[in-house]
Amino acid sequence: MKTPKIVILGAGYGGLITSRQLEKSLRDGEAEVTLINKHDYHYISTQLHKTGAGTASDDKIALHIPNLLKTNKIHFKKGTVQNVDFGKKKVYLDSGDKIEYDYLLISLGFDVATFDIPGVEENAFKIKSFQSTKAIYNHILRQFAAYKIDSDPSRLTFAVAGAGFTGIEMVGELIEALPNLCRAYDIPFSKTRIITIEACPTILPGFDQEAIDFTTTYFKKNNVELMTSTKIRKCSPTSIDLDNGEVLPSKTLIWAAGVRGNFLLEKLNLPISRGRIPVDEFLRVKGVENVFCIGDAALCMKDEKNALPPTAQVALQQAVLCGPNMIASLRGEPLKPFMYHHKGTVASIGNKVAVGKVFGLKISGSFAALMKQVIEARYLLMLGGPSLIIKQLLKIKKPYTDVSTVSNQK
Ligand code: FAD
Ligand code: NAD
Repeated sequence: MKTPKIVILGAGYGGLITSRQLEKSLRDGEAEVTLINKHDYHYISTQLHKTGAGTASDDKIALHIPNLLKTNKIHFKKGTVQNVDFGKKKVYLDSGDKIEYDYLLISLGFDVATFDIPGVEENAFKIKSFQSTKAIYNHILRQFAAYKIDSDPSRLTFAVAGAGFTGIEMVGELIEALPNLCRAYDIPFSKTRIITIEACPTILPGFDQEAIDFTTTYFKKNNVELMTSTKIRKCSPTSIDLDNGEVLPSKTLIWAAGVRGNFLLEKLNLPISRGRIPVDEFLRVKGVENVFCIGDAALCMKDEKNALPPTAQVALQQAVLCGPNMIASLRGEPLKPFMYHHKGTVASIGNKVAVGKVFGLKISGSFAALMKQVIEARYLLMLGGPSLIIKQLLKIKKPYTDVSTVSNQK
């Protein structure tokens, strides 16, 4: 009998942890597993804002995928997925390669939602991938270097769209990064501006009042300008148009105004809802044989009306079940339904403080920052055991500040 082929698309939180589950639980020769990802590195999406501000070195955020896998059990293939033929059970890559599968996992993650706001797609900087956030940092360095020549204040005006979790985490990193860059380029700190633009009446809309108050006070103390009840209407490479009529001269708009499922999902000829693929309680794509979907690509209902949010916490819990469910599928055993257990949320505001709620307890300040580090360490533990935590802790290289080393790529 032919050995069944399991193919996993995307080596983010969901895809990698599912791979680890399969590695652990598949018997020798029971299945051939191939993990396909655009790059040969896994980026820790929950820390991308640090790459954007240059507050963490690249090797802390991007990890070489083959080093994270038992490659005798999981075959890694670098490639960009272009399409899937669910009838022929084939995945098509942009290289022209066709990969056959018997069991498929779609874990292709998120894309940034720009809501068709004019100019955003072309001009705003996205917190989406390692490369897109690296482009933010490189652009910031170029602005500092150019300011030395033309003293154009719009170069040092850094605007962040959206003050949800991603937006406030990005602002938190900028608060820490800009003073260092001012020193490196010998520019007075007073010349820089950080502006957060949020459509809702408060930052962190929907979160606890304590977290909103803590973050607002912290931002104000650090001279962050808060524009709430303000929507971005359009942007150009040099300006941001607001719905109150104001036009903000800025060469840097960092877009943190929401996410949706990977755009590729729309090409796959599957039912799509809110940019994501609806799944059943066993994490299978409805109506397609032997296809599973998890993480930000999946629309997994919490109850009749509400879907689970696109978070790493959800992706990880789904991955822990998805591996065993894929194995149960191929063994012809019963599958287990997915039950989500919300443990809390912590958003960092730079390295030193954070806000959140853990097991129902509201936390803020340095204790919350410590909790955030515990959460990040727990992920590394799942991914590579205690040795990966130690390896990551030992990486202390500082990001560069010399603009001559940066590429022009956006
Ligand atoms: P991803 O981790 O996005 O992985 C998708 C993978 O697919 C990537 O490796 C990508 O390169 C690959 N890929 C995409 N397209 C293709 C293609 N066509 N071909 C091949 N490969 C492809 N959630 C939390 O719970 N806690 C947090 O603290 C938190 N912080 C966050 C901070 C930031 C700045 C951001 C942006 C998000 C944060 N999130 C957080 C949300 C969290 O990062 C996502 O929910 C999580 O990454 C989803 O995991 P995933 O496996 O579905 O997708
Ligand atoms: P979000 O949808 O939570 O927040 C986007 C914000 O942008 C909203 O407050 C919205 O009002 C605002 N906005 C939208 N359009 C706008 C416009 N035109 N002008 C101004 N403001 C506008 O998105 P997010 O913060 O990227 O979070 C995405 C997901 O990732 C969420 O599920 C979140 O929980 C998760 N996440 C979690 C953490 C954490 O747990 N620490 C960190 C980052 C992201």
